[in-house]
Amino acid sequence: MTASARLLIVGPQGSGKGTQGVRIAESYGIPVVSTGDIFRANIKEGTPLGQQVTAILDKGDLVPDELTSEIVRDRLSQDDAANGFLLDGYPRNVAQVAHLEEFLAGRGEALDAVILLQVPREESIARLGLRAAEQGRSDDTDAAIAHRLDIYEHETAPIIEVYGAKGIVDRIDGVGSLDEITERISAALAARGLRLAA
Ligand code: AMP
Repeated sequence: MTASARLLIVGPQGSGKGTQGVRIAESYGIPVVSTGDIFRANIKEGTPLGQQVTAILDKGDLVPDELTSEIVRDRLSQDDAANGFLLDGYPRNVAQVAHLEEFLAGRGEALDAVILLQVPREESIARLGLRAAEQGRSDDTDAAIAHRLDIYEHETAPIIEVYGAKGIVDRIDGVGSLDEITERISAALAARGLRLAA
């Protein structure tokens, strides 16, 4: 049996949200929908979408809202997302929250929980430096990292207030071992009555 959970994981770049998102989605038997991964896969394959967004990603800018929202709507319309999903990296600003809310409301759905991974800026920068050395991501340059963290603070952090007003935000301390952090998230979701996949 698959559990039903519609989740969003939010946190600054380097907060570990990608890693934790995969772990949590696996335990709920739901797919991860990561806009960053979708863009990177398209860039790698050289698709028209990939060509359109390469320069934007390299600079650390945001892909236009309408295009990003359309991609997410298509992805969430696939069968495997019918009973739940974990969004990572979308919505990233208040306009995208409005797009998502409208889309989900049209299906009679809403997010169940927003997991906010909290990590100090210095720690994020240190982790991103490590990732740059390990993975060689083209947007993990010093300039692009600083720019992405600024966008996070100015555009993404405000979405927490929107979801906070709905009472669905779980603030999780993102400093600790991988297992400790997964445990904190699982406990917060369980407290909301979100059951694991059987
Ligand atoms: P991420 O892997 O989530 O850090 O995303 C990598 C890059 O993809 C970002 O720096 C943006 O250029 C782009 N991107 C990912 N998600 C979004 C989004 N929701 N809106 C706009 N651009 C995005």
